[in-house]
Amino acid sequence: MKEDCIFCKIAAGEIPCFKVYEDDLVLSFLDIGPVVAGHTLVIPKRHYRNLLDVPAEALSGISRRLPMLARAVISVVQAPACHLLLNNGVEAMQSVQHLHYHILPRRQGDGFGVPWPAGRLEATTARQMAAEIAAAVAKAH
Ligand code: AMP
Ligand code: ZN
Repeated sequence: MKEDCIFCKIAAGEIPCFKVYEDDLVLSFLDIGPVVAGHTLVIPKRHYRNLLDVPAEALSGISRRLPMLARAVISVVQAPACHLLLNNGVEAMQSVQHLHYHILPRRQGDGFGVPWPAGRLEATTARQMAAEIAAAVAKAH
């Protein structure tokens, strides 16, 4: 447990939450500031900063629970779809530095939108970029 981490405190039962699911590995509870109805969080009970910090085995355990939780959430709010959103790092809108997935139920006309200012991929830049990333992946393997 990380002393100054609010999600560690929730996982330890020191701070209350509106719990929807709990097992040995994860805890799921309603987001205190819902951006859509049913906005739910899924966290590992152990402290990991984010996706870049979590061991593969723990991540696969967390990931395996997501479809079941997402299905339950969207069925209750009667939404046909959802985002599973994971913010990694402060610059990527991560405000709580303890790994968490957002389950965001979506339906047509719900008024929620993720800004997506799509650009246009240019072939020369793309070739270079893809090669650099492929080399970085090969190094990390
Ligand atoms: P993020 O910006 O991805 O780090 O998301 C953190 C989320 O945690 C936000 O949507 C907050 O509303 C939510 N949050 C912060 N504190 C609590 C809390 N005590 N109980 C439930 N949700 C919380
Ligand atoms: Zn934590």
